[in-house]
Formats: sequence, structure tokens, C-alpha cells
Amino acid sequence: MSKNFDVVVIGAGPGGYVAAIRAAQLGFSTACVDSWKTAKGTPAPGGTCTNIGCIPSKALLQSSEFFAHAGHGFAEHGIGVQGLQLDLARMLARKEKVVAQNNDGILYLFKKNKVSFFNATATLREASADGCRIAIGGAPEETLIARNLIIATGSDARALPLAPFDEKQILSNDGALSIPEVPKRLGIIGAGVIGLEMGSVWRRLGSEVTILEALPAFLGTVDGQMAREAQKQFTKQGLKIETGVSIKAVTKGAAVTVDYQDAGAAAKQLVVDKLIVSIGRVPNTEGLGAAAVGLALDERGFITVDDECRTNLPGVWAIGDVVRGPMLAHKAEEEGVAVAERIAGQHPHVNFNTIPWVIYTSPEIAWVGQSEEALKAAGRAYRAGSFPFAANGRARALGDTTGFAKVIADAATDEVLGVHIIGPSASELIAEAVMAMEFRASSEDIARICHAHPSLSESTKEAALAVDKRALNF
Ligand SMILES: Cc1cc2nc3c(=O)[nH]c(=O)nc-3n(C[C@H](O)[C@H](O)[C@H](O)COP(=O)(O)OP(=O)(O)OC[C@H]3O[C@@H](n4cnc5c(N)ncnc54)[C@H](O)[C@@H]3O)c2cc1C
Repeated sequence: MSKNFDVVVIGAGPGGYVAAIRAAQLGFSTACVDSWKTAKGTPAPGGTCTNIGCIPSKALLQSSEFFAHAGHGFAEHGIGVQGLQLDLARMLARKEKVVAQNNDGILYLFKKNKVSFFNATATLREASADGCRIAIGGAPEETLIARNLIIATGSDARALPLAPFDEKQILSNDGALSIPEVPKRLGIIGAGVIGLEMGSVWRRLGSEVTILEALPAFLGTVDGQMAREAQKQFTKQGLKIETGVSIKAVTKGAAVTVDYQDAGAAAKQLVVDKLIVSIGRVPNTEGLGAAAVGLALDERGFITVDDECRTNLPGVWAIGDVVRGPMLAHKAEEEGVAVAERIAGQHPHVNFNTIPWVIYTSPEIAWVGQSEEALKAAGRAYRAGSFPFAANGRARALGDTTGFAKVIADAATDEVLGVHIIGPSASELIAEAVMAMEFRASSEDIARICHAHPSLSESTKEAALAVDKRALNF
């Protein structure tokens, strides 16, 4: 049996489901195929982000932060907590509930927008100028015929060849979000966004956490001043972080033993109860049938696309984690919307210079645009202004004064080139900077905008004033 659609989307992660909704809004008959199922076998659209990524990690970060605050953050507010207890099973169940609410929300949106949803694995059978034939299982096999195809099959956790995931002792992000008991000793290989977020969750719940990172510098791609502040804060919280290490062996027994060489080439050993491996992610084209239809992949397995997400096959597009660029949910979403609009003959644009990055640790770390180091390397003259949250009235009232906001502007034109925020609600504050950069604002523009008092956002204004050495409150 076959069904015809103007647009078929493979994958219902943030890239795919948003692309499908936008295509349907534009009047196309649209189908979305996604293979993810809950443990009970029901559909679980939302991809990595909803099921084992952004959403469950933020649910656990929130719960664990409340626990840490109740343990030692409330006393200075005059609030005493006695008999504080951790009910981890309930915390994990809440996380699952948040995930399920998001799964259901996407199913509702599909229905509302008349997107036909198939909870199955899609395999490409044929691609020609007339359209694509996609098998979605069943007996007899069901086929979708797509005039336009959008592939949004996402990514999977990269395994360490000498320590494959078993999700019991050696965990990917999937297992790391569902450890049934707080491990006494937790090892993490990889001090990237996921490693730091997972390390923060389990540290706050009581684990001794050691993070081993191969790169010589901590958060090497982040603005140096911000990375140094982050390392200082994480160390204060008890996260042990070693950079410049080389992993030699991982042995499983009652515990997991990691043999490694430290930055000074000394042989060392780390013995932990659980080991999280977070060393990056690989594009997912498994089961897609790319080779059968001649879909071009690059040497790292990403689907090859041009700047507008066109693959080498006519009418076939690819977006999100399965193509080049940052592996971020909002990048996948923007590409999904843009592709649907291109299919409709519109001319959208995704601006890679203004994609924000966030690490949801405490303090939160957020940035957009260029770092000081990148500008120096490019030989571009700039002026930078910083403002500490310690001088911000709202941060003092909150009792959270760590970190700073920094605005970097072109020395000649004053155009904002980068904004870096480490501190309370940095993930929300960065939106103003993204907006400013999208409109190519100057630091003077931000400095002249009236910001509510008392608010954390005044720190961004003050940092913009500091570019011209005229911060008012510092
Ligand atoms: C722990 C963790 C935390 C994260 N936190 C954040 C965050 O805070 N912010 C952020 O921006 N990003 C975060 N990310 C990254 C984010 O999850 C990804 O960038 C995002 O999910 C990519 O979206 P996507 O649509 O490209 O693919 P995915 O979300 O990976 O979705 C792909 C979907 O396609 C399905 N699929 C694959 N092949 C087939 C097939 N052949 N047939 C049918 N279906 C198929 C998969 O089952 C999946 O449902 C996090 C990731 C992890 C692991």
C-alpha cells in the first residue's frame, strides 16, 4: 500500500517535528515518520532532545538544584530545613512525566496541524526527480511517496572503543539520566556540555564526581575569562576536573577502573561505581538506506548538504544533528523551518553567527558570537566591557552573585561581536544579546535601552556601558 505526500519528514526530534508542522502550516500534505517508542511501546516523538537529552537533563538539573539549595542554600535566607531527604525514584519519575508531557504535546501538535504521524523506522527505497519512495515497515510493507523529503535522523552518543556502553556501569547520556541509586563515586570522560551537566546533577545529589578531559584546556572553545570562572566555581562545588588526560584502559569488575595518563604523563588510576562517557555524538543514518539511493555522506558520516540544507539528491533535504554545524536543538529547529519555507519557494536564512550556546550548570554559562580569543586570532580590533553579578542588586537579593556579563564590540564600528554571560539565569539573559546581534546592534544601542530595575538584565546593559568605560554601578 502506498500513500502520497507533498512533504515527508524522517525523524520527529526538534528538527523534524518542527519542519513537519511548518510544512503543514504552509499548506503541504505532510507526514512525519519516527521510530522512537516508550518502554511500553507507545510513540515517543521528540527525538534525543525530548527523550534522553535537553528536556530530561533540565528536569534533573532543576530537581537536583532544589535539593542542593534546600541542603545549603536556604539557611542564609533564614529558612531552616530539617530532615532533608532525597527520594530519587520520585525525582526520576517526575523527569519521566515531564518527558511524557512533551511527547504528548508533539502528538497533539501533529493532530492540530494535520500532520500524518507514523511510529516506524523509515528506509529509503528509491529517489528520483519525481520523488522518493520510503518504506515504513508493516506486512505487506507500507510505502510513502514523497514529492519532497526532509531527513532529520539526529545523532547518537559516541562510544569510547575501549569502553562500549552497557548502560549499567558504562553509561551514555541515556543511562546517565536514569541511574537508580546515587553512585558514591562517579567518573565522567569528557568535560563538554553533557559531561558538565550530568556531573552537576549527580554531584548535587551526593556523588564524588571526577571528570577526565582529553583536551589540554578546560572548555577550550569558550571565552577564556568565562572558562576560568566556570572552572573556579565547579571546583568550589567539589567537581574534580583533570584536563590533558589520555585514557589507556577501562576495566569492569565490581567497580569500573579507568587507567589514564595525566597531563604530566604520569600513570594514574580512577576507580568509580559508574562511568559516564560523554565524548561527543555521531550522526545517525543507521537503517536509513542512504547507500541504496546514493545519498552522499561525508567522511565522518554526516549527510552532505549545501548552505541551504540540500543534499545531492533532487528534492531531498537534511537538517539538524545529522548534518554539519552545532548539535543543538534550536539549530535543528531553525533549519527545519527554513527548509519547509524553501520548499514553498520562500527565501529564509539561518544565521549561524547568532546561534546561542548554553551550559545549564550552576552558574549557567551562555554565549553568542565571538570570544576574545577568536577575535585576537583573527586580528580583529575590539573593545570589551564586563560587569559582575556581585554588583547587581537583583543578584544580591537572589543570593546568587557569581559570574559576570561581558559584551565585546568592534573597536571601530561598535557593532556587538559577542556576548558571554556566566551567572544566574544566563540562559534567559542571552536572548537579549542574540536579538541585538541579529539586528546588528552596537554596544551603545544596548547601553541606551531602558532595562527594568532591579533585574539581572541590567548586568548586560552595564557590560555594554563598560565597553565605553562608563559602567554606572561598578
Ligand atoms: C544529554 C543531552 C542534553 C542536551 N541538552 C541540550 C540543550 O540543553 N539544548 C540544546 O539545544 N541541545 C541539547 N542537546 C542536543 C539536542 O538534543 C540535539 O541537538 C537535538 O536533539 C537534535 O535534533 P534532531 O532533530 O536533529 O535529532 P534527534 O533529536 O536526535 O531526533 C532524531 C529522531 O529521528 C529518529 N530516527 C532516526 N532514524 C530514523 C529512521 N530511519 N526512521 C524513523 N525515525 C528515525 C530518532 O529515533 C529520533 O527520534 C542535548 C543532547 C543530549 C544528549
